[in-house]
Amino acid sequence: MSELNLILLGPPGAGKGTQADRLRDDFAMPHISTGDILRAQVAEGTELGQEAKRYMDAGDLVPDEVIVGMITDRVAEGDARDGFLLDGFPRNQKQAEALSEALNGLERHLTAALLIEVPDDEVVRRLAGRRVCVKNPGHIYHVDFDPPKHEDVCDQDGSRLIQRDDDREETIRHRLEVYHTQTEPLIDYYDGKGLLRRLDGRRGPDEVHAHVRATVATLRLEENL
Ligand code: AMP
Repeated sequence: MSELNLILLGPPGAGKGTQADRLRDDFAMPHISTGDILRAQVAEGTELGQEAKRYMDAGDLVPDEVIVGMITDRVAEGDARDGFLLDGFPRNQKQAEALSEALNGLERHLTAALLIEVPDDEVVRRLAGRRVCVKNPGHIYHVDFDPPKHEDVCDQDGSRLIQRDDDREETIRHRLEVYHTQTEPLIDYYDGKGLLRRLDGRRGPDEVHAHVRATVATLRLEENL
């Protein structure tokens, strides 16, 4: 069967991580989240983590030199041989070109860029109320839309819930600005290559999931034609 090499595009808070987790379960493909990898490095206190933290807390992009090699190595690993789901990368033109070169070098190509679209005011509402599990960042809650059973405690493993430093309102606004100036141009870039698939991210996670899953199932059929 052909591989599915997918990237998820969209502003912070669009639900990329949530949808990627579900797609991983649907299609048994690795979910590679640059944000999660960086946060794990921060938690471990590695040199890379210490350097990245400054940028992350400010809502800025970590320098390309730090991130590009990390991700191009990761997509070449064994578990990503039959496909991958990249979440949070690429975030600018240089990263997009680096990914394309790395895939060319492996005689592979990108299957599609899935764009989850959400307006700015909705992003702010979602992120400011987001709480994540201190142990497993994939366990995500929202104080209004999806509260845990007990305040600040993860339903799934009983760990403490925290607000990410970069989910404070001023930082969210800055992250959106970074998204509009640096990442949004990739929409035209992938559209020009015929790879863009647009999804309405304003709906609830189940509805978005149904649409994403159907889109990926169609892509898989097309790859096998
Ligand atoms: P995320 O969880 O995807 O919102 O990422 C959180 C933070 O990690 C971002 O605000 C950036 O500081 C950093 N980051 C994640 N992915 C990248 C990337 N591809 N390039 C540069 N910085 C990134």
